[in-house]
Amino acid sequence: MFGKSIKLFKVFGFQFKVDPSWIIIAALVTWSLAVGFFPHVIEGLQPLDYWKLAIVGALGLFFSILFHEFWHSMVARRFGVEVSGITLFIFGGVAEMPQEPKTPKSEFWIAIAGPAASLFLALVFYLIYDFGFRFGMDEAVSSVFMYVALINLILAIFNLIPAFPMDGGRILRSALWSIKKDQRWATKISTNFGMVFGLVLIGLGLLNILTGNIVGGLWYSLIGMFIRYAARNSYQQLAVKHALAGEQVRTLMKPPVTIPSSISLQEMVEDYVYRYHHKFFPVQDGKDRVEGCITTKQVGELGKEEWPRTQVREIMIPCSVSNSVGPDEDVADVLRTMNATGLSRMMVMENERLLGIISLKDILGYLTARMELQGDRGLE
Ligand SMILES: [Zn+2]
Repeated sequence: MFGKSIKLFKVFGFQFKVDPSWIIIAALVTWSLAVGFFPHVIEGLQPLDYWKLAIVGALGLFFSILFHEFWHSMVARRFGVEVSGITLFIFGGVAEMPQEPKTPKSEFWIAIAGPAASLFLALVFYLIYDFGFRFGMDEAVSSVFMYVALINLILAIFNLIPAFPMDGGRILRSALWSIKKDQRWATKISTNFGMVFGLVLIGLGLLNILTGNIVGGLWYSLIGMFIRYAARNSYQQLAVKHALAGEQVRTLMKPPVTIPSSISLQEMVEDYVYRYHHKFFPVQDGKDRVEGCITTKQVGELGKEEWPRTQVREIMIPCSVSNSVGPDEDVADVLRTMNATGLSRMMVMENERLLGIISLKDILGYLTARMELQGDRGLE
């Protein structure tokens, strides 16, 4: 869902982005304001006027969500937590933080900043509405202020529900975390709240669908599913981080399988590819230096009839730096890199010497064993 988002603007160094999925919700919100909310609040306007109010109202919602995420980001930065961007997507907004807050205190303040900002906006827009009401502001204009005030109040209250990864769930986690000094336990409890709340939303959604409110019902169900997905994901990420804590590449790497540069591709396929099933091999002749790398994809691009008369050295390419790690790096970091790049095997290099290979398969095998030993079966 992330990745192809459209960049909007930068404020205080934070890049604001819109995911294409936001367009669906923007259209849905504008439509429901134009044919539902505004005709209900003020009577007797032309349809076109309702649409104008709806567009301004939707922009107000758009601004309100960004403002909420912006304050999460400001406080996160204040506590030294990096924010890579603020993105609007189908279920609202998100301040993307590649790392989790390091202390319960920072988590609490980062989490509460968003709802506090929304409450502040609710108050400001309500005061404008109230002021306009007393001094004869146009009814249509004041109704937009009323709508934006209301939406901010709803944003604040909804986000304070203690279901992780929503803000209220983060506040709950920070409290549990500071009481028992156990981040994993705190995460487990608060993500379980998230799982249950997600289920409640799905149930509410189904009830709505059965009673005829199909769009609203689908919406509740989708948000419920999203919250459950995000809760499970957050917990797994943390469990992985704990299981791999402090583990270095050196302990999980395997001796490398290298191939000589003088053999033919035919020999490479028969003696190495069919035997080890690796997708790439380092090429090494002397003891220490890696000459290059070769992948099964490169071999496959050459016709089969070429294999017996082509040597590995003819088609091997220089190994890319992005494909190697140091022996003292954290396995958790390597796993993150593999996730981001799609690489499943990386060379472990020290002073241009190939020490070993670390593979996704080995990391995952280790993780599974570790988590089973800890009696961790994840979230139910
Ligand atoms: Zn929030």
